[in-house]
Amino acid sequence: MTTPILEPGSILGVLGGGQLGAMFATAARRMGYRVAVWDPDPDAPAHQLAAHSYTTPFPDTTSRERFASLAHAVTLEWENVPAELCGWLEERSRMTPSSAVLRTLQDRIEQKQFLSSRLLSVPSFAAVESASQLKLAVDHLGLPVVCKTAKSGYDGKGQWILRSPSDVKLVETILEQTKTGQRWIVEQFVRFVRELSVLVVRNENGESRVYPVAENQHEQGILRDTLVPASIAAGVAEQAQELALQAIEALQGVGVFCVELFHTEEGSLLINEIAPRPHNSGHYTLDVCTVSQFEQQVRVTCGLPPGEVRLLSPAVMVNLIGEDVRSVMSAAGCSALYSTSGAVLHLYGKPMIRPGRKMGHVTFTAPQKEMAIATSQRFIATLRRPV
Ligand code: AMP
Repeated sequence: MTTPILEPGSILGVLGGGQLGAMFATAARRMGYRVAVWDPDPDAPAHQLAAHSYTTPFPDTTSRERFASLAHAVTLEWENVPAELCGWLEERSRMTPSSAVLRTLQDRIEQKQFLSSRLLSVPSFAAVESASQLKLAVDHLGLPVVCKTAKSGYDGKGQWILRSPSDVKLVETILEQTKTGQRWIVEQFVRFVRELSVLVVRNENGESRVYPVAENQHEQGILRDTLVPASIAAGVAEQAQELALQAIEALQGVGVFCVELFHTEEGSLLINEIAPRPHNSGHYTLDVCTVSQFEQQVRVTCGLPPGEVRLLSPAVMVNLIGEDVRSVMSAAGCSALYSTSGAVLHLYGKPMIRPGRKMGHVTFTAPQKEMAIATSQRFIATLRRPV
């Protein structure tokens, strides 16, 4: 049975109101929908675009009743919203992605166990339920390893790279001090040649679309820039797209997903992480694809057919992290950027600059990939220097 289509004029609820929620709301408004945003932070950017705003904490039962009766369908822009709330909402409204998928992906251990049970390649890993199990996991995997909190970490937060026995001791002490019930995943440290990501769109009828493979560079666990298309052989790109699609089909995922991968020195592909929502590394789709990842999210939320994923131009997306944003907030800085051919500036309107906070991004587009790379590198070199 095909899913009924929600017509323009309907209200779409989104849990979380960060920049991803704001970009979802912008796409939804352009397509004739109204948006209800629920984010406890009143300064969250998506509230500025919402027809209805909720700023109560997520457990608030009055808000959940109101939100459920208002929204014709609900989606999310942040994977750490309570799965229990999503489960409650999906009994009353159309909820994508489902709470079951969210539960699997919210917990890094469950996510990796699920993927490896389906024979989808992931780095070797071990679950750690107490500080005393850390050494056992390290003995099993061999140094170096990466230790990550099972839940709630993002942008490299709650992660440690352990290279020596003294690092193991140090992290053991940190784990001992955390509250009971915490779990961690310890993974082999992958010697990758590059990090890749693939966006997969899948609707309730099982129709799917896979975007071109993007190549990502991180700095201290935070995405610095994304190049699309990735500098990889066509065969590797096909393999990456196939692996990403297999993972989302195995999950029976409905929504927009980002599959992050490691391309290793030996030439294999390993899944690092799956996000059940549009992703920072997919922002290029706003400026150089026929249909953006956010429009796809609106389409899936409304039961509309998935859109084309054609890349119209190579691009490099550069994040504006923390103080970076100052370089484009001055008259000279933003004029320089607006004078740069092919540059598209996106600012998220966050009132406070904080270290590591994503404040905006710039997409550099050009007829040739090399030109986009060169322009973006010149721009990166100016960041944190007064213009
Ligand atoms: P995550 O939050 O798991 O996506 O990790 C953030 C970043 O840390 C990744 O994009 C990688 O650059 C690095 N990282 C995470 N896990 C590993 C691993 N097992 N081996 C090597 N680097 C990793």
